[in-house]
Amino acid sequence: MNIRKNDMVLVISGKDKGKKGKVRFAYPENKRIMVEGVNFIKKHSKAKGAARQAGIIEREAAIQVSNVMLLCSKCNHPARVGFRFLADGRKVRFCRACGEVID
Ligand SMILES: [Zn+2]
Repeated sequence: MNIRKNDMVLVISGKDKGKKGKVRFAYPENKRIMVEGVNFIKKHSKAKGAARQAGIIEREAAIQVSNVMLLCSKCNHPARVGFRFLADGRKVRFCRACGEVID
């Protein structure tokens, strides 16, 4: 997966299209990510003893990684991500817009 935790991303489809946020969690096994402030869902919950109140809780839900683009920290553009190997053999991501290595 080319998006990781703590990346800044731009949502490019769905109801939150155009929103930017930081990746809070990444779930590579199902290609989903949780982005700060994106894809709020309303959860209806019943009271469960004293610990939980009844009502509607809003919280973020994971979205498909294909619905976002990485925001390049160097050029600030939504970037397509490429992979490149460094001289020491490390595989790193780079921004196809400005060519800078991202991590
Ligand atoms: Zn860039």
